[in-house]
Amino acid sequence: MRDILPPDTARWRALNAEFAATVERAGYGQISTPLIEDVGVFTRIGEATDVVTKELYAFEDRGGRHVSLRPELTASVCRAFAQHRPLTPWKVWYTGPNFRQEKAQRGRYRQFDQVGVEVLGVDDANLDVEVIALAAEFYARLGLQQITLVVYSLGEPEDRVRYVDALRDHFEQADLTEQSRATLAKNPLRVLDSKREQDAAAISAAPQISAFYSADAAAHFDAVTAGLTRLGLDFVVEPKLVRGLDYYRRTIFEFQGGTLDSAQNALGGGGRYDGLVEALGGPATPGIGFALGVDRTLLACDDEGVFHVAPRALDVFVVDVTGGLEAAAITAELRAAGLAADRGFDNRSMKAQMKLANRSGAAIAVIIGDDELMNDTAVLKPMARDRGDQRTVPRSELTSHLKDELS
Ligand code: AMP
Repeated sequence: MRDILPPDTARWRALNAEFAATVERAGYGQISTPLIEDVGVFTRIGEATDVVTKELYAFEDRGGRHVSLRPELTASVCRAFAQHRPLTPWKVWYTGPNFRQEKAQRGRYRQFDQVGVEVLGVDDANLDVEVIALAAEFYARLGLQQITLVVYSLGEPEDRVRYVDALRDHFEQADLTEQSRATLAKNPLRVLDSKREQDAAAISAAPQISAFYSADAAAHFDAVTAGLTRLGLDFVVEPKLVRGLDYYRRTIFEFQGGTLDSAQNALGGGGRYDGLVEALGGPATPGIGFALGVDRTLLACDDEGVFHVAPRALDVFVVDVTGGLEAAAITAELRAAGLAADRGFDNRSMKAQMKLANRSGAAIAVIIGDDELMNDTAVLKPMARDRGDQRTVPRSELTSHLKDELS
């Protein structure tokens, strides 16, 4: 887990603002759910996934309730839907931290932020297209260019049952590592995730779900790819695309960054999860969404040299060597007028406070010495050469002078 310090936090905030603007333009409203839920909400993500079996921060609270920090937000959103039963289509977006006990490395942390959307109550393939296009638009707005959109369909649950049987038959005959044999007993689909060399041949020879699609599943996926093409979005259909969570059905997708190591190159992803709301006690409701990793997205921005965000610069730094009360009045007045103003404390020397003023990056220093206090004036000292000369103004006109100067 990491600390995010200023000035980096300004960039995080800007990313959130950009995301909010992008999805709110498309009719999504923000949802905020608790960081902690009943652990049962998350075990629905998939009993055989690493996220559930190894990575949950689950514990018993003082009331003996089995709870967990959330490892992702889709299950919480579906739980909220089942609980509140809002009108559909329900289009929501979120931002916030998630927790997984993973092996930390660059781009993989135990607390990480995601932004995302979920839509409940719509089966239409055009929605899949909208959701995918929104994520792509967001990346484009950040300035990222080396992004690959990968899509696939997992078929309907019944297609999956037939496929999983075929996979199990295939892998049972194959030369797999011991770890993958253990995975096979729990979930043959997860064997496809293995990056171990010894498993590679069996994985590449494995049957593909597309051979098992029902007519509806095939038509849905065709409509999705046709829609993406209509919007001019480049994509790759990737049968090897495996998402780390078990609730997906039909459309799945991932956005991969071109600059990151392959183990961490998934900047975000999502898919359909028809059936998850039911599993959480709600009515049968189709759903689709995505979550984008903020940490990783910003790493990709660093690598591509885009989305630089400067924190708000100070307009004014007040240097008061008369005890500091005048600085209190001036900063309050300037802030009320909408200017960004800071000051020196502890009645330090002129030299020490001027050093702080320089370091602060403020455009103008206001200086109050004994003469100014006595004559009801203030000295304006531009901190950059192109801002003219130092001058003295009446104290009563200080704010309006500064506003003119800085507008
Ligand atoms: P998931 O919820 O597993 O589908 O992940 C969606 C996105 O969240 C990923 O593509 C990553 O960008 C991000 N993510 C998932 N796990 C982590 C992690 N441990 N550290 C940083 N980002 C993560």
